[in-house]
Amino acid sequence: MMHEKMFIAGKWVESETGDTFKVINPATEEVFAEVPLATPNDVERAIAAADGAFTDWSALTPFERGRYLRKASSTILERSKEIAKLMTMEQGKPLAEAEGEVKKGADILRYYAEEGERVYGRIIANAEVDMESMVIYQPIGVAAAISPWNYPIELLAWKVGGALASGCTLVAKLPSETPLSPLAFIKCVVDAGIPAGVLNAVTGPGSVIGAILTAHPLVKKVAFTGSTEVGKGVLKSTADTLKKVSLELGGSLPMVICSDCDMDAAVAGAVRRSFRNMGQICIAINRIYVSQDIYEEFIERFAEATEKLVIGNGLTDDPCDLGPMCTSSGLEKTMSHIKDAVGKGAKIVCGGKRPSGEKFEKGYFFEPTILRDVDHSMLVMNEETFGPLVGVMPFKNLEEAVKLADDTKYGLAAIVFTQDISTARRLSHLIEAGNIAINNVDAGVINAPYGGWKDSGFGVEHGPEGLYEYLHIKHIRLRYI
Ligand code: NAD
Repeated sequence: MMHEKMFIAGKWVESETGDTFKVINPATEEVFAEVPLATPNDVERAIAAADGAFTDWSALTPFERGRYLRKASSTILERSKEIAKLMTMEQGKPLAEAEGEVKKGADILRYYAEEGERVYGRIIANAEVDMESMVIYQPIGVAAAISPWNYPIELLAWKVGGALASGCTLVAKLPSETPLSPLAFIKCVVDAGIPAGVLNAVTGPGSVIGAILTAHPLVKKVAFTGSTEVGKGVLKSTADTLKKVSLELGGSLPMVICSDCDMDAAVAGAVRRSFRNMGQICIAINRIYVSQDIYEEFIERFAEATEKLVIGNGLTDDPCDLGPMCTSSGLEKTMSHIKDAVGKGAKIVCGGKRPSGEKFEKGYFFEPTILRDVDHSMLVMNEETFGPLVGVMPFKNLEEAVKLADDTKYGLAAIVFTQDISTARRLSHLIEAGNIAINNVDAGVINAPYGGWKDSGFGVEHGPEGLYEYLHIKHIRLRYI
C-alpha cells in the first residue's frame, strides 16, 4: 500500500499522532494508499510556517518568484505521466484526461509566473500643484486554498499559481478523496527549491482542518472551491476575521440550442460537456433547452452519440471515454435524481442504470443518462447532480429559453448554440451567469476571469483578475517638496 506524507514548514511529515486515512480506487473499490490525518496542531504549524515565510517571499521581485514557478512547471511536465496515473487511480478519470489535467496544472503555474510580472499600479493627477496619487498592489499575506476532488490538480494550481506569484504564502488543504496527485504536484513545486514555509499542504477532513484555516486570524485570504452549502459555511466562518474570500461554488449549467444551430457541433458539445469526467464538473451541462422544432431530432442524435461512449477502468482500458464516478455518494445522488424525475413523469432516453458485465461488478460505474419530458419540479433541473445525468426540455421562443436558463439559484456558466449573431449577443447578455460559451462548450480559459454569480459564489480565478484576489490595493498620496 502506498503511503504519502504532507508538507509543512519545508518538511515532508506525518501527522503529530501518526494517524492516517485511506484512499480508494473508485474503479475497483480497493484501498491502495494512505495519507496523514492532520490534527489541529499540524494545521497551526502550517499556518505559522506560512506566516513566518511571508516577509521574505513577498519581498522578492515577481521575476524571482516567477523563476520558481517556471521551474516547477517544467518539473510537472517531466512527471506528467506518473502523476496522471495517481490521479486516475484515486479519481477515476481516464488516463489521457488525467495527463491533460496535469499538463494544464503546469500551464497554470507558467501563466501566473508571467502574470505576476504584469501587476502594474497607477499614477493619478491631483487638483493641487505638486500633489499626486499613486496606486500600488501588495500581497495580502497567508492564503488558504481549499479545493475538491473533481479536478484535483487544476483547481489547486489556480490557487498555488495566484497566491505564490502575487507574493502570498499558502496553506493548501487537499481534497480527502484525491490527495495523492495534488501531493505529487506540490512535490514538483518543492523540488523547484521553493523556500520553506512558502507552500504547505495538509491532508485530513475539511470539517476540521478547513474550519481552522477559514477562522484563523493569521490567514488573510481564503480561496475556496467546492459545494454551495460548504461555501456558505466557509463565508460565515471567515466573518469574525474579515478575510478576503473567493468562493467558486456549485452550478446547474443550462445549454440553449436554437433552431439555427450547427447541429453536429451542438450534439458533439452536448455529449462532451454533459458526460466528461462523469458529469463531475462544476460547468457540466445539467439542463438542455432545445428549440421545439428540432427537439426530437436533437434527442435522437444526442442519444445515438452518447451510447457510443466507452465506459471502463481508466487505468487499464483503452479506449475509455468514461471511468467510474469518484464516490459512492455521488453515484447514489445521481440515481436519486433519476428516480425523482422518473417518479414525476420524465422518460429515460438512454442510460439510467449501472453497466452490466463482470468488469463492472466493483466500482462506481454508471451509464451516461439522458432524460426527456422533464420539467422544473424535478431535481435534475434545479439542483446540481454532479453526475452523468442531463435533462432535455423544449422551448418555444428566446424569452422562454432565458427564463428557463435563469430558473435556478445557480449562475456559474451557460452554453448557447446559434448561428445568429444577434441571438448570441442577446442570450449572452441576458442569461445570469459569470461565464457564457457561444458555439463551444469550454467556458473557462486560464487568461480570462472565471467566477460565478448568485449561489455559484463570487470572486474570480484565472486571468489577471485571479491574481488581484491575492493583492491589497494601496493609495499613496504624495506631495513633492
Ligand atoms: P465540498 O464542498 O464537499 O468540499 C470542497 C472542499 O472543502 C474539500 O476539500 C472539503 O474537504 C472541504 N471542506 C469540507 N467541509 C469544510 C469546512 N467546514 N470548512 C472548510 N472546508 C471544508 O465539495 P466536493 O463535493 O468536494 O466538490 C464538489 C463541489 O465543488 C460541487 O458542488 C462543484 O460544483 C463544486 N466545484 C466548483 C467549481 C467552480 O469553479 N465553481 C469547480 C469545481 C467544483
